Amino acid sequence: MPPKSLPAFSLRPRFSVHSPTLIVLAAILAALVTTVLYAVWFFNKNIPGLRLWTFSFLSASVFCTNLLVRDLFPELVSVALTQSSIALAAYFCFLGSRAYMGRTLPSHAYAVAAIAALVGVSIYFTVELPHLGARFALSGLVSGVYFVLTAVTLARGGFRNVPARYLFSGLVGFHGIFVLLRPLLFRLTTVDSVGVPDARLIDLLSQYVVLESTIALVMMAFGTVMLTNEYITTELRHLAEVDPLTSVFNRRAFLTLLEKAISQAERMRQSLPVLVLDLDHFKKINDTWGHSGGDDVLRQFVALANRCLRKEDVMGRLGGEEFAIFLPNADGPGAQAVAERLRTLVQAQPVQSGPQSIALTVSIGVALCVRGDSADAVLKRADTAMYLAKQKGRNRVEVAETPLFV
Ligand code: GH3
Ligand code: MG
Ligand code: MG
Repeated sequence: MPPKSLPAFSLRPRFSVHSPTLIVLAAILAALVTTVLYAVWFFNKNIPGLRLWTFSFLSASVFCTNLLVRDLFPELVSVALTQSSIALAAYFCFLGSRAYMGRTLPSHAYAVAAIAALVGVSIYFTVELPHLGARFALSGLVSGVYFVLTAVTLARGGFRNVPARYLFSGLVGFHGIFVLLRPLLFRLTTVDSVGVPDARLIDLLSQYVVLESTIALVMMAFGTVMLTNEYITTELRHLAEVDPLTSVFNRRAFLTLLEKAISQAERMRQSLPVLVLDLDHFKKINDTWGHSGGDDVLRQFVALANRCLRKEDVMGRLGGEEFAIFLPNADGPGAQAVAERLRTLVQAQPVQSGPQSIALTVSIGVALCVRGDSADAVLKRADTAMYLAKQKGRNRVEVAETPLFV
């Protein structure tokens, strides 16, 4: 006799008859990916998010393994394990993306409540009102939302700068939306006169659902490895370009940027002023306050300079206590005014190094780029102007004469 109320159909026997190879494959892949990611994390513990992503793949492994062996457990246990593991996989994926992007992690209370509710309602649809379709829709609801949130979290930084992030975001977003909408697929299946859906179609759809999840798993594994690579590359580039003491560009990176800025200024027919700055009597500061006092002075000098600069201005440390700045879109008088403002600020603000207050002044040379200029040539002119400032008694700004051509 068919039941009169809600049809208590279960995909369980059919599902496990027709998709075992796929599920075995998914379980093996999930275990392999978890192991590989654990190894990557073990050797790169500084990469934010990697540990949480490893937990995500571990939860996916538990999910797949549970699908394989669930007949060994009471149904209640396997339902609770299935639902919590897939939701946790998505939640850890979301947490990993937050950590990777340097965002604060949310309170776990929401996730715990959502997963507890998911397990509770799923148990209801197992014991009170057995309904696999409802459980299936529920599992997609929690994990789908977290996958979509992951996609939103990662899609930042500009595609040209960080393409891996956007690829990963697209993958996770697609998977999240698919997971949210896939119960609709099963709604499309034909229902016979007693309300039981077409079993063959359900089998077929189930296999494609497992296939999509398996592909998503592998793609996400590639995604995390790509993000790891992105992080390491960015870190290496930072180390190669940035002076570790003051966090401004080092000489090589500054010269490269200046060359680029010169050709852009030429193309746009704009002026490009360059400043060379040298701290006065810095050797004496080192001798008086020690090397660490000197380092504090260098760091705080850069902080003061940043207060006088706009976002598009670029500062570099040419070496020792010598710096350079170029100011795109500024003209000669504008650059002279910036230099003067910085000189006054440095003079007015003694540097705090521990309990000591260290007085400081700076000499600045200003030069303007002309047609056909090279970075070396314009820096040399600004440097000559700076030495003139030194000769004239330090703590002053001198402007180099602009040649008609070079
Ligand atoms: P002037 O006014 O003519 O520029 O004199 P100065 O003493 O500033 O110039 P000089 O070139 O004689 O001395 C520069 C000093 O900068 C010597 C060197 O020990 C010190 N120095 C170079 N790099 C660093 C650094 O990274 N940290 C510290 N604390 N000192 C540095
Ligand atoms: Mg000096
Ligand atoms: Mg010097």
